[in-house]
Amino acid sequence: MNQISNISFKGKRVLIRVDFNVPLDKNYNITDESRIVASLPTINSVLHQGGAAIIMSHLGRPKNGYEKKYSLQHLVSRLSVLLKKDVDFCSSCINDEALNKSRKIKNGGVLLLENLRFHPEEKKGDPVFAKKLSNLGDFYINDAFGTAHRNHASTAVIANYFHNNKCFGHLLSLEIKNLELSLENPKRPLTAIMGGAKITGKIDVIRSLFKKVDYLIIGGGMAYTFIKALGGETGSSLCDNEKIDLAKELIDLAKKNNVSLVLPSDSVNANEFKNDAKIITSNIFCVPSGFMGLDIGPNSISAFTKIISNSKTIIWNGPMGVFEMRNFQKGTEKIAKSIALATKKGAYSLVGGGDSVAAIKHFDLNKCFSYVSTGGGAMLEYLEGRKLPGISAIES
Ligand code: AMP
Repeated sequence: MNQISNISFKGKRVLIRVDFNVPLDKNYNITDESRIVASLPTINSVLHQGGAAIIMSHLGRPKNGYEKKYSLQHLVSRLSVLLKKDVDFCSSCINDEALNKSRKIKNGGVLLLENLRFHPEEKKGDPVFAKKLSNLGDFYINDAFGTAHRNHASTAVIANYFHNNKCFGHLLSLEIKNLELSLENPKRPLTAIMGGAKITGKIDVIRSLFKKVDYLIIGGGMAYTFIKALGGETGSSLCDNEKIDLAKELIDLAKKNNVSLVLPSDSVNANEFKNDAKIITSNIFCVPSGFMGLDIGPNSISAFTKIISNSKTIIWNGPMGVFEMRNFQKGTEKIAKSIALATKKGAYSLVGGGDSVAAIKHFDLNKCFSYVSTGGGAMLEYLEGRKLPGISAIES
């Protein structure tokens, strides 16, 4: 397979799929530009070698065609500053203007195309739409890990039109390398920490992690379904009643695979879902009626910390509680800090998922892990052992 570092882009018009799905405030200012910054090495590789970069991305979730708040035009000036050169913009990714501008682009030029998702064909993986996009370049690079698990026109289908003229960008290669590092021959003990609101969507990952990890720590809202499956009283905590049998099955499966499934032992509970609610900390098996568990308690923090500090490889996805509220952020903060400390002492740590990444940024710890993935769903599907369409399309 083509490696980006072995390819000469001189004189080539290179179509680069990036993930510029950045948050904007109400005046359309970018509030977190990390995703743009993460794509610069790939764009610069093309430009510095004398190629032209035609950049495409999605932004937000437009429902029905053009919506000003999701226009990639809002990114043009910042991208120009970051690349230290003018960036041209095209008001559609597939109209005649796009075709003309892509034909006339000079070596070293940059053209940003309007949001791909203004066209429903993008998410449908429409081959005709993908073909039109492919007409804009001579070479295709996929550097968007965040959407690599989607079989969309610009992330997977388009690659069919490039045969040998395609490769992963630096960011996507780095994501794959780091996921492989944590799964293939990891240093042991290997501990995975899963949190977040719901068990749905993480079941298959948990199941496949049982084949790989030594410890699986579960925190956050999803822990309460397991506690209920073990006969606990969880009050009005988040609990997926339809998944209780499945939680029992996963508890048995952990035993069969010789994996220590570690659940919280105590819970910080509130009588309302708000920061200044009445708060009671209890054994997690006895959450009082009328109260909901919104964070792991101090005993759970020390038990989890002990395991983390002895681990040599740590994978973390999903917060331990409602970290967005100050009174329920301690569990997530302490666990983030203990992973950071283990990393400092030589463990390898991989963190991913939108909320975990938001949490570590909130605690100013984002530089303290071995690797922070840009993908949430994509990271989980990779950990599950699934072939991601965006990756297979380049490899085939
Ligand atoms: P997910 O998208 O499933 O990873 O969930 C992330 C969300 O889970 C965050 O917004 C947290 O506030 C929320 N969360 C974590 N723990 C709890 C809990 N015990 N109860 C309710 N929500 C929670």
